[in-house]
Amino acid sequence: MALLVALAGLLVGSFLNVCIYRIPRGESVVWPSSRCPACSTPIRAWDNVPVLSYLVLGGRCRACGHPISVRYPLVELLSALLAVGMLYRFGPGPAFVIYYAWSCVLVVITFIDIDHRIIPDRFSLGGMAAGIALVPFMPISYTDALAGLALGGGLLIAVIYAYYLLTKREGMGGGDVKLLAMIGVYTGWKGVLFTIFAASLAGTAFGIPWALSRREGGSAMKAAVPFGPFLALGALVYVFFGDRIIEWYFGFLA
Ligand SMILES: [Zn+2]
Repeated sequence: MALLVALAGLLVGSFLNVCIYRIPRGESVVWPSSRCPACSTPIRAWDNVPVLSYLVLGGRCRACGHPISVRYPLVELLSALLAVGMLYRFGPGPAFVIYYAWSCVLVVITFIDIDHRIIPDRFSLGGMAAGIALVPFMPISYTDALAGLALGGGLLIAVIYAYYLLTKREGMGGGDVKLLAMIGVYTGWKGVLFTIFAASLAGTAFGIPWALSRREGGSAMKAAVPFGPFLALGALVYVFFGDRIIEWYFGFLA
């Protein structure tokens, strides 16, 4: 079963790549079929097999030889890993499907935010609405899902406001607020606290070198780091390991 789920995850990952590339460009995700971004030659079915085609083609377009980003096979592998991970986490059933779909949305948000510095509302607000509708099928109460929603939105608005008061600069945007509120529906209020804590740690650890490497005109911190990917990462770590990490942390304090 895990093997089947992994294979399905690879195929879903291939579709996630299409979403990541096309949605911010306002293109349809179903038509036309996949094309090389460099020469626009349609990619034939046997050159579009997840991961394998990338390896067979040596990471280059068959028609024009333009290099294909290693991100394509990596997103496919990540999708397969998340599918199997969610299967083990929730067991076969609706919660597995819901949380896997949610993790796919987080993956798409992550790479769109990295590429374009936006988090489309259709994913954050859409994920919020879907999550609230699906609570009866998830291992979470309505009280906790709504508390997560409110805390996720409210907490980040407070952080953004405080950051602005201190630095007179916008560190995060409204997209991050909607994303954390959406995450809260699936993780509850504890997950929101964990996510913002983990995202801040990861953002500090990876974000400062990232900002420094991208600096333009000498002002390093002006190249603000997209925060969405860190929120997504924190939320996924919470769903898989949150309980154990929290237990370990409070045991450690005691
Ligand atoms: Zn090409």
